[in-house]
Amino acid sequence: MVSVKHTFSYDPFEMEKAVEAHFELLRLDELLRPDMKVTVKPNLLLKRRPEEGTTTHPALVTAIIRRLQKAGVTDITIADSPGGLYTVSQLTGIYRASGMEQAAKETGAKLNLDTNSHETPSRNGVTSPSFPIITPIIEADLVISVCKLKSHCMAGLSGGVKNLFGCIPGLTKPDYHWRYPKEEDFCSMLIDLCETVRPAITFCDAVISMEGDGPSAGQLRQTNMTLCSTSPYELDLALCKVIGREEDDILTIRCAKERGICEKTFDELKLVGDDLFCYADFKRPRTMSMDFLSKVPRFLRPLARPIVDTFLTTRPHIDLKKCVGCGKCAESCPAHTIRVEKGKARIIRSECIRCYCCHEMCPVRAIEVKQNPLLRL
Ligand code: SF4
Ligand code: SF4
Repeated sequence: MVSVKHTFSYDPFEMEKAVEAHFELLRLDELLRPDMKVTVKPNLLLKRRPEEGTTTHPALVTAIIRRLQKAGVTDITIADSPGGLYTVSQLTGIYRASGMEQAAKETGAKLNLDTNSHETPSRNGVTSPSFPIITPIIEADLVISVCKLKSHCMAGLSGGVKNLFGCIPGLTKPDYHWRYPKEEDFCSMLIDLCETVRPAITFCDAVISMEGDGPSAGQLRQTNMTLCSTSPYELDLALCKVIGREEDDILTIRCAKERGICEKTFDELKLVGDDLFCYADFKRPRTMSMDFLSKVPRFLRPLARPIVDTFLTTRPHIDLKKCVGCGKCAESCPAHTIRVEKGKARIIRSECIRCYCCHEMCPVRAIEVKQNPLLRL
């Protein structure tokens, strides 16, 4: 079941009303006990201000914390492992820029500054046997994931399932791209991770979303909703409909269905609350190879993949005029194929696995997703 609430702004009063409605529609109080340790996990990808639309808005996080406090919960921590280094100074800067520092100040919730992680066996793992998971997630009695609706250059959708990638510490994340360079394997790993973390509740900030080349370099779009579910898979099914994608186009959803974890199709999904706003023209990322392959019958995909990779795929391209030589792209590149020389970054293309971590992490949006000229014909 997914609850939908029309939410037209980040006004604190409107946000509190929306969160209250989700709690009532899904009877979320039944999941809570006052003595619980609760971790609220927003999407804090990189150091951006709330109005840049890359991170979960602090108004939603604040409203959720206040509602938990109303239910008697006192031990609440805000935690995420953004991209880049997982250090106290990095976290402090991101908490400040994203408005989480203010959210914690206003509510009395804690901000996680523990940068340890624990190797945790994967629950029902198919692709990854274990994961290093950040301490506040492991130690929580209950995890509330608060994702942001964004398109995603690699996974297609940044929603409930993808948000949990931030439970893996800092620069360990690019390792997973290196280990699972194929989109299918990477998305199967994300399902293993989702099963391991098992957030009890997933909220989605879809008031202002990101379309195009998300999750950090797309365009903002007013989509006027907050959504909530106890199933991150069902939430993502609803988000698929919102952004006008076929559910089988999004590999995490397809994988969850194949494993029998997500039993529903969108038509079988129970929506409660307001009507779902759908945006059939929601811009897709320019990374189209996944879409081509999804149209090819499964048994032909191994044959089709080299053709798609060579002629129909997209690649990261550095705009040297915009590049400020900060090195964030090189730091997050799992293939170690970016060099920063004389203040400018350069990609050695032959070694690129097209994970788009560099595109995601560039603070000045200097890395574009460039289509093969054939795609523009
Ligand atoms: S491309 Fe972006 S992330 Fe890489 S060095 Fe240049 S400014 Fe930094
Ligand atoms: S250059 Fe960018 S897209 Fe290519 S492997 Fe490195 S991070 Fe991934």
